[in-house]
Amino acid sequence: MANPNDYLKCPECKQDNTVDFWDRHTKAEAGIKDDNQFISAGASKDEHDEVQSYFRCPVCNEEIQGVKLNS
Ligand SMILES: [Zn+2]
Repeated sequence: MANPNDYLKCPECKQDNTVDFWDRHTKAEAGIKDDNQFISAGASKDEHDEVQSYFRCPVCNEEIQGVKLNS
């Protein structure tokens, strides 16, 4: 798993944000309070593919597939 301080680039707005920031923004937008129901943006492509994860970009707020996040 990626480091929380690693950067992931948004395929829509091309801005880089940390894994931690992607996670926190996505959880806030989706109202997720239970970490057990949440896969980190820093997870591997295989993990994202398996659970069909989606994230919210902290900058443009577009919904981004987890598999498209790995830089
Ligand atoms: Zn974006």
